[in-house]
Amino acid sequence: MNGIISMAYLFAAVMFILSLGGLSSHETARRGNIYGMVGMAVAVIATIAGINAGAYWLIAIAMGVGALIGILLARRVAMTQMPEMVALLHSFVGLAAVLIGWGGYLDQSKMLVGAAHVVHNSEIYLGIFIGAITLTGSLVAFGKLKGFISGKPLTLPARHWLNLAAVVATIVLAVRFIPADLSNTTLIDLSIMTAIALLLGIHLIAAIGGADMPVVISMLNSYSGWAAAATGFMLGNDLLIVTGALVGSSGAILSYIMCRGMNRSFVSVILGGFGSDGSVVAAGEVEGEAVATSFDELAADLDVADSVIIVPGFGMAVAHAQQAVSDLATKLVKAGKTVRFGIHPVAGRLPGHMNVLLAEASVPYDIVLEMDEINEDFSATDLVLVIGANDTVNPDAVEKPGSPIAGMPVLEVWKAGRVVVLKRSMASGYAGVANPLFYKENTRMLFGDAKESLQSVLGKLSAA
Ligand code: NDP
Repeated sequence: MNGIISMAYLFAAVMFILSLGGLSSHETARRGNIYGMVGMAVAVIATIAGINAGAYWLIAIAMGVGALIGILLARRVAMTQMPEMVALLHSFVGLAAVLIGWGGYLDQSKMLVGAAHVVHNSEIYLGIFIGAITLTGSLVAFGKLKGFISGKPLTLPARHWLNLAAVVATIVLAVRFIPADLSNTTLIDLSIMTAIALLLGIHLIAAIGGADMPVVISMLNSYSGWAAAATGFMLGNDLLIVTGALVGSSGAILSYIMCRGMNRSFVSVILGGFGSDGSVVAAGEVEGEAVATSFDELAADLDVADSVIIVPGFGMAVAHAQQAVSDLATKLVKAGKTVRFGIHPVAGRLPGHMNVLLAEASVPYDIVLEMDEINEDFSATDLVLVIGANDTVNPDAVEKPGSPIAGMPVLEVWKAGRVVVLKRSMASGYAGVANPLFYKENTRMLFGDAKESLQSVLGKLSAA
């Protein structure tokens, strides 16, 4: 039986690796998801078959309830709420790691001695520590994304000292806890460490500002992987170790890539409060006057333009405008124009958010380009349509060193001959900073819901 279970675990691990490979591009993402589902189904069956639980009906009830909640949540969640859902799911991984760690500590049946005891206690300690940070950190991230908690960095005075004190206390407690046997003292030590880790999770994530949130989500993804890996060591479950390490390392690599993409330092993001000195510029602080345009005028601009780049952002998702965007692109291509899409790595509320929506609306992959692939081309482009994007096209990021989003690479749309921004008002984006793009000479604002505006413009285009 053990041989079969090991084979099943190996098979599941390979499926997970293939799944990650598949998820790295749109064309293979669906296949990647299927590999992941097959791997997880095999992993769950093999794990249940390998335990002498006796009370299988209890497991069946727990799985039934979990599956029901999962299905209901997944069916109801909108794409714009995906990051919240991901944050909440990470918190469950953290909670599981904490509970399993405590279970392992209180379980007297192992009776380990010597090095084995030290290793076991280290696994418990590490699992609870990372799990507790992941649990509260993810809940705070959920609250920030949902709007329950302010999206701005909430920083305490001397916060780095507080973080340092928490780390030092955790190390001191570890030195006392790890070699010791189960006793009232270790119970107190582990309780204190759990409380510190729970508070540290809140403190670390609360200090991170709006525009850094994408990095936080992928960082918490990484933490939840390491928490699972630590739990895998504790339970002696090889597949959990492999899966946790895959999630942990891929989350860490994604966080690193995003930090590089946003010109943030990874360490600063982890320590919180980076990129914000509290001096967030209020919307409307930019001088100049924004010029509004009309459906007729935009239709006329599109008719004469030879090259068009469409830059979607969070507002396209809110307006459910992807189909209208796709219809417009098709019509323009048919009229012989060069049409491409420029996607910022953190446009929307989740990496890949825009790509998924455009793929859903059948926009061909080969005209959807990443920021690095298209940024050079704006100056040679006649017209850029910015559809519900804001922070990701803010010139202050590259032109104003003091700006809260300074250093973040952005789509340099203002270099095009004409820029038309579709949004409902002059409101700022997620980072809460004003956007001078709206006031540039070559920019026109088309106010209104993006979907409705696009449908009106589509009706007025003479290009066929
Ligand atoms: P922004 O959040 O900067 O701006 C979106 C704009 O869409 C708003 O200014 C809003 O203006 C407009 N909008 C909203 N609803 C509609 C509608 N129905 N029709 C037309 N426009 C609408 O979007 P970006 O995509 O440019 O930037 C993403 C931001 O989110 C970045 O700051 C990023 O750091 C952050 N973020 C990204 C994550 C990711 O992984 N992608 C995760 C978490 C945060 P108005 O109200 O005037 O209509």
